[in-house]
Formats: sequence, structure tokens, C-alpha cells
Amino acid sequence: MSRSLDIAGSVLCEHCTAACCRYIALPIDKPRGPRDYDDIRWYVMHEGVSVFVEEGQWYVQFQARCKNLRPDNLCGIYQTRPKICREYEPHECDYAGGAYTYDLVFTHAGQVEAYARQKLGADLGEPKPPRRHHRIGAAARHSGA
Ligand code: SF4
Ligand code: SF4
Repeated sequence: MSRSLDIAGSVLCEHCTAACCRYIALPIDKPRGPRDYDDIRWYVMHEGVSVFVEEGQWYVQFQARCKNLRPDNLCGIYQTRPKICREYEPHECDYAGGAYTYDLVFTHAGQVEAYARQKLGADLGEPKPPRRHHRIGAAARHSGA
């Protein structure tokens, strides 16, 4: 991030407003059931929060400007910036684009509801009644004794 050289030798980051320094994205478990989808629906109800899937991995993303980003869009702690910043590949970054694509992106609750409906075959707003413990089989075995 910030001041990375592109192939042509010019400073790619000088043409960008430091898009990569304005959010954090954390991996989350792939949703399995209604509760997981409902949690994701809740995440994206918040301003600046989205959920995306990249190469099968689910992430929650928070729009949050790094406190070290200078007004000129350069890193204020370049020499001591975190490893995750050093490892970021400019040729595939948010600004350079290219192969940088998402499998899925959710930015509001309606998208999550629609996707969950497609996957679960039920609306998130209509939870199924709690599962009962059927003892019919056990009773039948006892009744035959
Ligand atoms: S998004 Fe890309 S071009 Fe922009 S600062 Fe980050 S690495 Fe540089
Ligand atoms: S530490 Fe520097 S390179 Fe890393 S996100 Fe913040 S401003 Fe960007």
C-alpha cells in the first residue's frame, strides 16, 4: 500500500486516493443456516459495513479510514506499517482492478434475504417453529415390551 511501483516504473499509488487504506476486511465462516444468514443481514444493516465472498472465502468489511493515512493519501508510518500492508499486492489492488473481482457482494439486508431464501428455501423473517423431540419411536419400543 502507498508508494508501490507498477510495471511501467511510475508510482501507481500516486494516482490513487489510497483506496486500500480506507477499510478493513475480516474473514468470517460461510453461513450454514438461518441464524448465520440473519447475523450477516444484521452486519450489513450498519453504515459502512458490507459482506463479500472472494475465492469461496466470506469476509465482513468495514469502511474505516486508517488513522495513519496522511491528507496527501500517503502512509504516515511507512517504515513501520503493519505486515498486512507490506504484503498487499498493488498489481491486484482495489485501484488497479484487473482480476480483482468478488464472487458475491452484500451491501444491504434485502440482498442477504434474497440470497438466503434461494439457499434455504425459506424467508429469514419467518423462522421455523422450534424443533420438538419426538419420542414416538421410543414409546413404541416400550409399548411393545
Ligand atoms: S489501492 Fe492500490 S494504488 Fe491505491 S494506494 Fe492501495 S496499493 Fe496503491
Ligand atoms: S498503516 Fe499505512 S499503509 Fe497501512 S493502512 Fe494505514 S496508511 Fe495504509
